[in-house]
Amino acid sequence: MDLKELYRAVIMDNYKNPKNKGLKKTDRYHFVHLNNPSCGDDMNVEILIEDGIVKEVHHDGKGCSICCSSASVMSEVLTGKTVSEAKEIINDFYEVVKGNSPEDEERLGEAIAYMGVKDFPARIKCATLSWKACEQAIKEVESDEK
Ligand code: ZN
Repeated sequence: MDLKELYRAVIMDNYKNPKNKGLKKTDRYHFVHLNNPSCGDDMNVEILIEDGIVKEVHHDGKGCSICCSSASVMSEVLTGKTVSEAKEIINDFYEVVKGNSPEDEERLGEAIAYMGVKDFPARIKCATLSWKACEQAIKEVESDEK
């Protein structure tokens, strides 16, 4: 199995068996909804931040395999990270899908599988939608705390 096949397998596995899928919809969580009209992706993300740690990330949405699988990977990768680490990982992911090297590949975990997206510029928005929702949620939680 070459690297491309391995990455494809990661994406399909997360599409078929998404992790952390389903919203809790309680006041403990901060909720953000974003959509991507160019593909029809529709994504909801909710996060729980406590003591500067991303304790939980949930997602629910409809869309293409790139978008939905990416939400699963995002939730896995960011759960348990500090808020500042999470923000760095999110920025690294934006670089990876554009074909640039991340600052810290190790931390990206399965998210590195999306490096092939650079060859399909129209799908970059699909891959980053849930990450953008999570980034916005983190920012909103931070500004609420100030
Ligand atoms: Zn899409």
